[in-house]
Amino acid sequence: MKKVKKLVIGNWKQNPSTHTDASEIFKGIAKKAHTFTNVTTVVCPPFVFIDKLSAGYSGSSIYFGGQDVSFEKSGAHTGEISAAQLYSIGCDYVIIGHSERRAAGERDESVNKKIKIALEHKLTPVVCIGESERDSHGKYLSHLRNQIAKALKGVKEKDVLQVVIAYEPIWAIGKTGKDAITPQKLHETSLFIRRVLLETFSKKVGMSVTILYGGSVKPMNARELLEEGEVSGFLVGGASLDAGQFISILETAHNI
Ligand code: PEP
Repeated sequence: MKKVKKLVIGNWKQNPSTHTDASEIFKGIAKKAHTFTNVTTVVCPPFVFIDKLSAGYSGSSIYFGGQDVSFEKSGAHTGEISAAQLYSIGCDYVIIGHSERRAAGERDESVNKKIKIALEHKLTPVVCIGESERDSHGKYLSHLRNQIAKALKGVKEKDVLQVVIAYEPIWAIGKTGKDAITPQKLHETSLFIRRVLLETFSKKVGMSVTILYGGSVKPMNARELLEEGEVSGFLVGGASLDAGQFISILETAHNI
């Protein structure tokens, strides 16, 4: 049976502190990533390291992504980085609406604008959604539905097909492998997200959009989450800063 290609994205967040360290981590990942042909590997370092890392990388098996993007094209927006700028330094992906950005004030409306501008500039938006807690009445499901509807409002069906949804329950982020979601709950949630996409757009969108899981993915839980969780890959935070751990997750994804 032909294996479906997985997508594994490393989100380095505000790490590491120096370019030398960033380069070391990247080299460690690059040494092996090209052997995992069944996986699309993406790394999202802090903005300041991307240019040098991508310029110094002669391989073609690792893609780069930004961790955020401005919703403005250009102009007087101090501290912002535009989609065109990301594309110009070698990015193909951009994380949008990460829970840590939402906690810092990101709103659904700006997530929506950022998705649109990313698509205009040929960047694949990796749109993060996720509940802060799982209540027993299923309110978190309406929260997810709402986040999807607001994020993708006005995005054309053909463009939605380019979007990657990263389901990242906030309660599972930054913990140990034992605190990640269970494969069964992930499976249910992934099917729910597909249903929302189908109801909002079309059967094609519901069936085809790439859904990732993020939240304490480690070498110890990657296999069961991928085998039983009904997702096409991962958004990895902490473990992506350790080349050995990240490679082990890539290898698992390659073999499934
Ligand atoms: C993240 O913040 O995107 C993330 C998934 O982090 P971690 O893997 O450390 O939980």
